[in-house]
Amino acid sequence: MQQALSFDDVLLVPKYSDIESRKHVDISSAMDAENKLELPVFASPMDTVSEVAMANAMSKHGGSAIIHRYNTIAEQADLIGAPVKAGSFVGAAIGVTGDYLERAAMAREYGASFVCVDVAHGHHSMMRRALAKLREVLGDSYHIMAGNVATCEGFDAVASWGADSIRVGIGGGSICSTRLVSGHGIPTLASVLDCSRSTHDVKIIADGGIKTTGDMVKAFAAGADFVMVGSMLAGTKESPGEVLSSNSGKKFKVYRGMASSEAQNDWRGKSSTAEGVSTTVPYKGSVEHILNDVAGGIKSGFSYTGARTMAELRAKSTFIRQTAAGQVESSTHIMRRY
Ligand code: IMP
Repeated sequence: MQQALSFDDVLLVPKYSDIESRKHVDISSAMDAENKLELPVFASPMDTVSEVAMANAMSKHGGSAIIHRYNTIAEQADLIGAPVKAGSFVGAAIGVTGDYLERAAMAREYGASFVCVDVAHGHHSMMRRALAKLREVLGDSYHIMAGNVATCEGFDAVASWGADSIRVGIGGGSICSTRLVSGHGIPTLASVLDCSRSTHDVKIIADGGIKTTGDMVKAFAAGADFVMVGSMLAGTKESPGEVLSSNSGKKFKVYRGMASSEAQNDWRGKSSTAEGVSTTVPYKGSVEHILNDVAGGIKSGFSYTGARTMAELRAKSTFIRQTAAGQVESSTHIMRRY
């Protein structure tokens, strides 16, 4: 049986570096000939992550948020229109059935820079049909992101069906129960490594289970062009939803999987098999400091490998596997001693 490694199983080997300032590190990444992100990070299309305030903050820091699709077309149009008017670079999520073609046409009309065909299992006949129709509606040059896939076989298929970028990772999300419910999935890092073998010129977005900037650097070293995060940005001032207070005065916000029964009930009025959970996370204040730390952490990662660009990082980096004792040493571990 094949073994698949996840972020915590591996480390990157520090290499000779002549990078004397983080200013000399360029972490930008191109989506296509026209669009480039200075910060190669997408905010997940989830109703507790990406609406107007998150879209503006992500874009201001060089990344991008994808406005979720758990709303009416008119509501999604407002959520897209507001940041686009403010000059932000945003994407719009759509599905593969129902009103997805109308949503795609609306997203382009309202100024979204790309659409994201957002389904749990992208290596699917419905994705194939949807991508063929979307190309008819949107034309060849409009950027279509699709996903999710977990294997190079799935990646190549979705690439050949017309996607420009593909979300890679099934079952790894922090709020995800897909692996428990269905028994299926692959650690996100292993999926990225597999998909990086593809000869298609289609961008890889590592999605699900990214907990730290170290995980982001590992994803880029494994071949990801971008990362996508939900939990890292949830619980901030810019994420949708109320700030809740406990009796002891601690502040929280809700973060939930879009396939959780709570989310399904809110958006469809009913729920079938849940593949996600709803939870609260501590309130973190403004997302600005998180995004500054993310940019700084990624640059630090490039510097330890001696890489000035994404391409150099990929070419120069070496992974090693760590043991359980190594994993303990790798996290701040003084708390375990006292
Ligand atoms: P996180 O960054 O680990 O919190 O993972 C976020 C990712 O989880 C999203 O970008 C989606 O790919 C995925 N996701 C969102 N909602 C669900 C769900 O209900 N079940 C499974 N995966 C989900």
